[in-house]
Amino acid sequence: MSKRDYYEVLGVGKSADSKEIKKAYRKLAIKYHPDKNPNNKEAEAKFKEAAEAYEVLSNSEKRQRYDQFGHAGMGGSAGGFGGMNMEDIFSQFGDIFGGGGFGGFGGSGGRRVLKGSNLRIKLSLNLNDVSNGVDKKVKVRRLIVAEGVTYKTCQTCNGTGSVTRVSNTILGQMQTSSTCPTCNGIGKIVDKKPSGTDSNGMIKKEETVSIKIPAGVEEGMQLKVSGKGNAAPSGGVNGDLIVLIAIEEHPTLKRDGQNVHYDHYISFADAVLGAECEIPTINGKVKIKLDSGIQSGKILRLKNKGLPSVSSYGVGDLLVHINIWTPQELTKEEKDFFEKSKKSNNFIPDPSKNEKSFFDKVKEMFN
Ligand SMILES: [Zn+2]
Repeated sequence: MSKRDYYEVLGVGKSADSKEIKKAYRKLAIKYHPDKNPNNKEAEAKFKEAAEAYEVLSNSEKRQRYDQFGHAGMGGSAGGFGGMNMEDIFSQFGDIFGGGGFGGFGGSGGRRVLKGSNLRIKLSLNLNDVSNGVDKKVKVRRLIVAEGVTYKTCQTCNGTGSVTRVSNTILGQMQTSSTCPTCNGIGKIVDKKPSGTDSNGMIKKEETVSIKIPAGVEEGMQLKVSGKGNAAPSGGVNGDLIVLIAIEEHPTLKRDGQNVHYDHYISFADAVLGAECEIPTINGKVKIKLDSGIQSGKILRLKNKGLPSVSSYGVGDLLVHINIWTPQELTKEEKDFFEKSKKSNNFIPDPSKNEKSFFDKVKEMFN
């Protein structure tokens, strides 16, 4: 089995920079994600192929070797490909999709930089918001450092954030270093604080945060607004605001990824004679023409009347499902009419007839 070129797999040029490579991989990873393509072996293979290509092209050393020697240079000790499992692939995702490491400490060496904790909110959007993208203003109650709070250098550690303990052992003196228990490694403690604040001199304050929601977001997606979570005391960095997306049910339209489905009920007479109908779409109504003789269960595709994707180009379609409404009560005359129709050959089902030509006509109409 010959392997495809990694650049070809990601659809980027040989000179693509790391940003381009990351973007291309992200797009493919979302498109072929197993959650989106259940039981689809081909999608799974593509997903793995893209992950492998990204693994190599995102690493400058591996990429250089690949550029020089091709696939031959990647075997054996190079990293043992082919053995890449789903877990390895998902471990790349932290890098690609952000996330991981909420709250806690950051920075390296010496004094620690405290990061405020993240705030989480759930934001409900309707399909119109999803279709067009939307700017939302939300109120959040953030912890901030209260006015008038002052900090002083921690006496226990002299501001270093760590304490050194010297102990005598049979091997001589041993030094062990650990986080300062007084200031938790920050190097500073509260000096003065106004009443009503917590032990770190912080208070909760309501703030309005603007969130730009891109078009095409889906239920369960999380957006991160950097720095809009809780603040941290004494010069720490703010946590983030994590926005969990929820999508409201539309009264008549059903979302299916980028496509949208609509159940359209027509009368028996309209099915027989043909009709012009109004169909609701996410952004207003459209008129469509139904040919005479249309069958129940027919699906009409209205191109580009679906939803955009948050990660790729193109817009989905609106799929109109035709349902013929069977009358449930009849007058004497109507009943007589249908009794008589039983004798007519035209009323005997013949699914093989006209199917194809009708479909082609519909396709022409919307392409
Ligand atoms: Zn200390």
